[in-house]
Amino acid sequence: MAKISTASLYLVPTPIGNLEDITLRALKILKQADVILAEDTRKSSILLKHYEISVPMQRFHSHNEHKAVSSIIRKLKNGVVMALISDAGTPGISDPGFLLVRECLKNNLKIDCLPGPVAFVPALVKSGLPTDRFIFEGFLPHKKGRLKRIGDFLKEKRTIILYESPHRLQKVLTQLLEMLGPDRQASVSRELTKIHEETVNGTLSELNSYYSEKDVKGEIVIVIAGAKQ
Ligand code: SAM
Repeated sequence: MAKISTASLYLVPTPIGNLEDITLRALKILKQADVILAEDTRKSSILLKHYEISVPMQRFHSHNEHKAVSSIIRKLKNGVVMALISDAGTPGISDPGFLLVRECLKNNLKIDCLPGPVAFVPALVKSGLPTDRFIFEGFLPHKKGRLKRIGDFLKEKRTIILYESPHRLQKVLTQLLEMLGPDRQASVSRELTKIHEETVNGTLSELNSYYSEKDVKGEIVIVIAGAKQ
């Protein structure tokens, strides 16, 4: 197999649920890397075992990334080729990655990011809401600044995308309804690519009633229509 390592650090997207959602190139890079930086090595070992990848892993997560960056940069400068993966989806998207990329660029180390799974793209497309202009807001702050951020959506004309945890779904839907009104269209995608995948499209009022009677589990992306032009 031809070596294709022209970068020092590869950001490699991994499945967001269905283990088959990984590209041939992602598997090639993971097999050829000297070290795989992983958010949770136990979770990632399931994927790596499935594809018979036995490259050593090193932990790289939000609690150690500041500390770990300088020693990683040193190793990259010494010619070690690394692949960064997160628990799911694209590293750097609501996951560690940005800091390391910034330091690599500062140190003239070549990076590459492979295209691949990311949760917000299928959620956006399945929402039926305009895909030509959208903003990705990631996770809303839990307390300080939360209502201000939702308030900003009042005049936002582009489609808005949020990540949210299941236990906060009802709270955020209520806050969105109170601040944006009951008639704004939205969509909730849950457990994308998994057995219990579900996308529910409707007004904020309809989504509120639907989820108020449910014990919601799993991972969630919320897509909200922009304000009318
Ligand atoms: N790096 C990931 C990406 O590329 O989308 C995002 C990681 S972030 C820590 C985790 C959040 O992504 C979840 O709380 C949820 O909002 C969203 N997510 C991840 N997998 C998902 C799935 N299978 N279905 C719906 N949302 C998902």
